[in-house]
Order: sequence, then structure tokens, then C-alpha cells
Amino acid sequence: AAERLAGKTVFITGASAGIGQATAKEYLDASNGQIRLILAARRLEKLQEFKEQTSKNYPSAQVHIGKLDVTEIDTIKPFLDKLPKEFQDIDILINNAGKALGTEKVGDIADEDVEGMFNTNVLGLIKVTQAVLPILKRKNSGDVVNVSSVAGREAYPGGSIYCATKHAVRAFTESLRKELIDTKIRVISVDPGNVETEFSMVRFRGDSEKAKKVYQDTVPLYAEDIADLIVYATSRKQNTVIADTLIFSSNQA
Ligand code: NDP
Repeated sequence: AAERLAGKTVFITGASAGIGQATAKEYLDASNGQIRLILAARRLEKLQEFKEQTSKNYPSAQVHIGKLDVTEIDTIKPFLDKLPKEFQDIDILINNAGKALGTEKVGDIADEDVEGMFNTNVLGLIKVTQAVLPILKRKNSGDVVNVSSVAGREAYPGGSIYCATKHAVRAFTESLRKELIDTKIRVISVDPGNVETEFSMVRFRGDSEKAKKVYQDTVPLYAEDIADLIVYATSRKQNTVIADTLIFSSNQA
């Protein structure tokens, strides 16, 4: 994998925590630091901490960090246009930013949560993809990885909006893959089950007891496990696309 990743530029949304940050680390490890990373999220200070840590371990790695809220769709194109020249030629896009807000039933969900989830998980992802696609098309190569979820394949009570957003992501991903079938751009859907990250704290609005219960009967699946899959999928030979993956902890039903 190291030689296939060497010199590539990877753009990760939601890179300040969880799966996004673990993926950034995995790209550095898998390429021995011979990679360029564009790391975006709203919490710049978290990205800064990661960058400082990284530069100790991988002095040769090139890491660009930037504040980007994917729901502020007018800021996406300017974010890309303002990238330092050596980062502009993106090879791999990881659409990872996403969230579940609450567990209310349909009648009780606040409008702002519906909008928050759709704007982040769906509109933000679509707009980032549309902004990066011309770069990949120009080169006729590259990868788009969309992080959906098992919630994009099934639906459960208290998850109506989150599940609807992730179903939308999977549909968008499948259409995109088929539209690009005659190109050398690969489109990959990564669908995790429960992963131990800040995600469940966001979902349960900071109630750590509730969050703990999500994992109590399962073998933990960590952000690093998803990162490992993403880096594996994007470092295959060009003739292979790992198009659609469901990744669970080994005892999740
Ligand atoms: P975390 O909550 O740990 O991380 C979410 C990341 O997304 C953070 O870096 C956060 O950064 C960023 N983010 C949130 N909103 C925005 C925004 N508007 N603009 C830019 N960045 C944003 O969650 P995970 O790592 O677990 O989740 C990553 C992805 O994996 C999500 O798409 C999620 O739906 C999916 N997933 C997670 C599962 C799980 O059990 N954990 C299961 C299945 C799928 P910041 O706050 O700094 O902006």
C-alpha cells in the first residue's frame, strides 16, 4: 500500500475526532508519512493539536488544516480555492463529517435537529463532492469515500432522520459510482456499525450513561478499525473497487 499512497493528497472532512482523525493517522502510518493531508472540521484547535503531534512522528508529512463547516455550503469552494498550491491536486476525498442528533420519535424531533442532520450528512457531503469532482475528473483518477452507516441499510425507532440521511448518502454514492463507471475514479461506500467515538455523546447529547449502554454488550469497534478499511480500500490496484462495505464489531447483530 505504501507505494500506491506515496505522494497522494487526501482531503478528510470531520477530521478533528473519531473516524476522521483515525483515518488521517492511518494514512500517515500506511504511507510512512509520504502523503499530503488536508484536514477539515469546525474545531480548528483539535486539528492543530493533531498536526503538532503528527509533525513529531512524521516530520516529512505535509498536513494542511483548515476550518470548514460543511453545512456552510458557500464556504466549500473558497476553502478549496484557498488551499496552498501543493494541496490543490486532491486524489482522495473522504466524506466523513456526520452526526446523529438525538433519539426522539418522529413527532418529537426539533426542526433544528432535522436540518442539522440533513445539512451535515447529506447536503454538506453532496456539496463537498461536487466541489472536488472537477479536480478528479481533470486527472481521470482518484477516490471518493462516503462514510454512510448500517443506518443507511436499515432503520430503527428513534433514528428516523439519521437513518433517512444515511440512506440518502448510500443512494447518492451508488448513483455517483455508476455515473463514473467509464472513468478511473472510484467511489466507495463505507458503512460502519457501532464505533466508539464522540458520536454517541453527540447522539445522546452528552449523557455518558446512555452512550455507554450502546456498547455494553458488544465487542468494541474502534475508529482505527474503520480507518484501516478506508485506507485499505483506497490503496488497491486501479482495477479493483471495494464498492460497498459493511463493517461491524464481531458480535453486533
Ligand atoms: P465523531 O462525533 O467522533 O466525529 C465527527 C466528526 O465530524 C468530528 O470531527 C466533527 O468535527 C465533524 N463534524 C461534525 N459536524 C460537522 C460539520 N458541520 N462540518 C464539518 N465537520 C463536522 O463521530 P464519528 O467519527 O463516529 O463519525 C464519523 C462518521 O461516521 C459520521 O458520518 C457518522 O455518521 C459515521 N458513523 C459513525 C458510527 C459510530 O457508531 N460512531 C456508525 C456509523 C457511521 P467538528 O465538531 O470539529 O466540526
